[in-house]
Amino acid sequence: MQALAERLESLLAGASLAGFDLLQFSALKTFDPQPESLLGKELRGVGRRGKYLALEFGGPRMLIHLSQGGRVDVEDPPKRTKPRGSIVRLRFDGRPAVLVKEFGTERRAGLWLLSKGEEGPLERLGPEPDTEAFAQLVLNGEDRRRVHTILRDQRTVAGIGRGYSDDILHRARLSPYAALASLPQEDRRALLEASRDVLHEGLELERTREGGLPPKLGEHFTVHNRYGQPCPRCGADLRRVSYESHEITYCPACQTGGKVLADRRLSRLVR
Ligand SMILES: [Zn+2]
Repeated sequence: MQALAERLESLLAGASLAGFDLLQFSALKTFDPQPESLLGKELRGVGRRGKYLALEFGGPRMLIHLSQGGRVDVEDPPKRTKPRGSIVRLRFDGRPAVLVKEFGTERRAGLWLLSKGEEGPLERLGPEPDTEAFAQLVLNGEDRRRVHTILRDQRTVAGIGRGYSDDILHRARLSPYAALASLPQEDRRALLEASRDVLHEGLELERTREGGLPPKLGEHFTVHNRYGQPCPRCGADLRRVSYESHEITYCPACQTGGKVLADRRLSRLVR
């Protein structure tokens, strides 16, 4: 999202909003201000907070959350079509248009229009991973939940998803089932360092992309979704384990002392 925000800013900043074509009405989560009130306003910049893109119009702003299946087309020249899954098309004077769409069956991407000073859904977000607040949480926090759960909880730390959580734990050599409160200081420091390094490298890689956000994002994760392949560090087979509503990929040799984790979802059914 950070790299996408940077690309959109370089394409669109300084242009006036010429059109707000809402193509899926349920995606707009706010009633006030009206979309029409932004027409003619200059886009001052595009930022990011957590997984939200923030289009700043000098007071009012527009938030976009792409969720899992949300994608962005940069249209140069702008189109008038309505591809499947279209959510909104933003048109700008003399610049490319931006089409936000969603593929798959889930309809979870959303749009918020906020008045000056309003935080909307950003209010509930935890600190960014590069802040001192996050460092304190990792180094001294007493959160008893599993690290993987903590990293994905947007109210605790904003902007880290499943993929980066898998890679961060692998980098820090921590078990997917490790609980933060019981980690020794050394592991906490490794976790903090891994979080920063993995996210930094991910951003650098995303910055090599051009245009919007394509349907196929490619795989730049180190271990996420790579079960069955050799661990890039030690060569052992990567494993996966079902946890909560998703799967975690990990290396038994690097992360769990050789132990293959029991699939809790399955064992619950067997019991
Ligand atoms: Zn390994």
